Amino acid sequence: AAPAMGAPPGARPGAPAAAPTKPGAPPAQATSGAKASERIDPAQIPRASSKPLFGATQYATRTVSGVTSPPAANTEFVVQDAGNCSPRYMRATLNQWPERFELMSMCSMPLGLIVQPMASPAQGEEGVAVVDMGEMGPLRCLRCKAYVNPHFRFNEQGRRYTCNFCGASGDVPQQYACALGADGRRLDAHERPELCRGSVDFVAPDAYMVRPPMDPVFFFLLDASAASVTSGAFENACRSIKQLLGSVPHPGRTKVGLATYDRAINFYSLKPGQTQPAMMVVPDIANVYAPCPKYLLGVVDECKEMLEGLLDSLPAMHRDYPPREAAMGSAVKGALEALKPTGGRLFVLASSAPTVGVGVLKDRQAGANSETVHKLAAPADPTYFRMGQACAEYQVCVDLFLTPQGYMDLASLTPLARETGGDVQLYTPYNPALDSPKLFNDLRWAIVRPTALEGVLRVRTSQGLTVTDHYGHFCQRSATDLDVPQMDCDKALYVSVKHEERLPSGMEAAFQCALLYTTTEGQRRIRVHTLSLPVTEV
Ligand SMILES: [Zn+2]
Repeated sequence: AAPAMGAPPGARPGAPAAAPTKPGAPPAQATSGAKASERIDPAQIPRASSKPLFGATQYATRTVSGVTSPPAANTEFVVQDAGNCSPRYMRATLNQWPERFELMSMCSMPLGLIVQPMASPAQGEEGVAVVDMGEMGPLRCLRCKAYVNPHFRFNEQGRRYTCNFCGASGDVPQQYACALGADGRRLDAHERPELCRGSVDFVAPDAYMVRPPMDPVFFFLLDASAASVTSGAFENACRSIKQLLGSVPHPGRTKVGLATYDRAINFYSLKPGQTQPAMMVVPDIANVYAPCPKYLLGVVDECKEMLEGLLDSLPAMHRDYPPREAAMGSAVKGALEALKPTGGRLFVLASSAPTVGVGVLKDRQAGANSETVHKLAAPADPTYFRMGQACAEYQVCVDLFLTPQGYMDLASLTPLARETGGDVQLYTPYNPALDSPKLFNDLRWAIVRPTALEGVLRVRTSQGLTVTDHYGHFCQRSATDLDVPQMDCDKALYVSVKHEERLPSGMEAAFQCALLYTTTEGQRRIRVHTLSLPVTEV
């Protein structure tokens, strides 16, 4: 049966009257007499509904009468893109924007957008349409560089456009011009996704590339020090990676590499034609380099068996008398050297904080008292922040999988992931029986989930509004552009917006997020999400 159009009238989900029949609600308690009046009936407490009564809500992002508020983010819904992007990709804190600044400050609401450019569509939703304009590339406003979208106006028989972001007009290139219908819209508006959809993927022409699109690369950096070996984390990591080699997407193009570290760093050459990988030890952890960088990465299809053999033998090689020292900071530097020519995703599986080499972290918690404990929330020093920025520059994204038994200085280490668009997973205290399935699943998802590579993201707003700040995992080198070495389908960021001047009357407030990225298939694209919202005077 087709899903119903939301809840029937009078049965608003979460309303007290409907709550007792709501699926999943706690059963009403059998109470009687005076006792009933004392106790609070949980069914009577209003709470946000997580499920509509009958299937998913259908939501069209625009209708003839304008824009309606999107369904709550914690409900099930199916979106039809009708000229505004889906709320999965971009959602504003307000669905009607106040015209005047005074009105805005009176209502004290945060002004901003939650952006998740690579979000996965739900079942029943169309994916983002791909538009190839050839060498011409997408039409962009000459003044503000906004991308063509359903809210661009065309005039003078379709030869000129007016930008909905800055109001500037410009000539439409001849090969893109089209006659207008009686309603003033282009006759081809319904055939061109960029003129009728809020979200499109433009194929990027060569002008948008500084180098050929990169191949997907996964590099595993494993802690082989005593803490990791004795807790079982090292063996679990080796076994998980071995199992996952078969699930790597595009095994004919994707490259993998592996290194281990304790008081020194061990790299493994995956040169084709060897029976087993040759181990290369880098004992100088103060001045790390990557030995024979050409063979540290191998195409999965070509080196899978060699790597599987290595991962089988690693736990036995490190079982007896593993060193207590862990040169994690130096090892990350070494892995970055290995990844500089290609970029890629670096998985760091660590059980202890760095104790030797670059970026040593002391146990700050031990010496903290009630007056200094708040300092633990800030990094001890900027070493890992700078290392993260260096990684971002070479399109290296760092994921931290931390498996300590006790305290680990996360505040100092996490800038590595934050500056590079990576993730932090913490399993503490690491227990192989409980945590190894989770470690396997988290690693698997990090490898197989849809991901955009070497991304550059920018959010534009229409006249009267400006972007003030960005919050999330990325590296920001300029006021407007964010570098995101890898942006997966789970990554979202918050963009705060400021009212600069009175919004132009008769216009909508428009927002556009553009992500220039490389697909895992090796195509350079620009994903553009546009949201145009009504402006209100009251
Ligand atoms: Zn413009």
